[in-house]
Amino acid sequence: MSVLDAMAAAGHEQVVLVADDRTGLRAIIAIHSTALGPALGGTRFHPYPTAAAALADVLALSEAMAYKNALAGLDHGGGKAVILGDPRTAKTEAVLRAYGRFVDSLGGRYLAAEDVGTSTDDAELVALETDHITGLPIARGGSGDPSPMTAWGVFCGMRAAAAEAGLGEDMRGIRVAVQGAGHVGAGLVRHLLDAGAAVTVSDIYPERVEELVALGAAACPPDEVHRQDCDVFAPCALGAVIRPETVGELRCRVVAGAANNQLLDGSMGDELHRRSIVYAPDFVINAGGVINIAEELGRPYDAERAKVSVERIAGTLTSVFERSRRDGVATHVAADRLAEERIAAARASRPDAVAALHRPG
Ligand code: NAD
Repeated sequence: MSVLDAMAAAGHEQVVLVADDRTGLRAIIAIHSTALGPALGGTRFHPYPTAAAALADVLALSEAMAYKNALAGLDHGGGKAVILGDPRTAKTEAVLRAYGRFVDSLGGRYLAAEDVGTSTDDAELVALETDHITGLPIARGGSGDPSPMTAWGVFCGMRAAAAEAGLGEDMRGIRVAVQGAGHVGAGLVRHLLDAGAAVTVSDIYPERVEELVALGAAACPPDEVHRQDCDVFAPCALGAVIRPETVGELRCRVVAGAANNQLLDGSMGDELHRRSIVYAPDFVINAGGVINIAEELGRPYDAERAKVSVERIAGTLTSVFERSRRDGVATHVAADRLAEERIAAARASRPDAVAALHRPG
């Protein structure tokens, strides 16, 4: 399939190929849609084996951001950028600043942020060349590490999912098994313990679990966490954790966690639905980070205001569950439908993508 066919198939508006010989920068910026507003999404720095692999990834990632931003209630389309190279060796100030100049040349159609292989410190270097970057360090008036807001969003969303499963919104006594005690997982465990939940946690690094055990959590081996007899299983480590080998072993009533791409594929979401396990679609419940960085745009960042915005995730999930019941479809399908409808409505009300961003007044 040609690049243009691949773009048209998934509804992408624009793909920008960047080659800067002075610095060696090779990058691709993909803008899915600006119907809701400027495209927002992270910049991934990764040693892709080929440019074709990088293109396929950036198209998929920017499309996923479109769905995420739409359901997060943000007035932003989906965007993503990839810089080709090994971040440990190729990520220099010159490369990041050159990248910033290309982002700037798009005039705000794409708003960059950090992603795998880039950090808030890198964002600061990009910001030397463009204002169209968010997720800056706290010292620069930015929002810093997004993980605490992601964890808060997952906690709020988990309460909504527990209510949908008939467990009530009060997490006291609710048994939660958390897979992964990293940036988000550890924050989530702390919120759960504060709320009186009975938490079991696992990580491949025992020291990360020990800290949480000292606070009152129980530990379990990494290969057993999804099999815990519990109310809620919270994947906060890897993707594809719900797959044919694991789905039949789940002994929970809710799956609600931060990890991206928790379902190996859509059939796993259908299987959870068939088993009456309430699944909080990952891209809805883990949107706290992007909601948080969007709070930096166009006004001074305010952590309290951002926290309140992140709490919207609970209401969004409730709408997803209602739609799932109404249409008789799994929750991941219901979430996609809601996102697609919001994007389609915005597209229908605007003349075209370029005009939308340059309208007078
Ligand atoms: P992280 O790398 O800090 O934490 C992941 C943890 O999972 C690590 O401690 C790792 O040791 C552990 N782990 C890996 N394999 C495991 C296994 N088999 N069993 C148990 N533990 C295992 O990452 P993070 O920032 O906490 O993100 C967690 C997940 O949430 C990722 O999938 C990420 O893409 C997603 N996510 C994160 C954010 C954010 O703001 N950080 C936002 C949206 C989505």
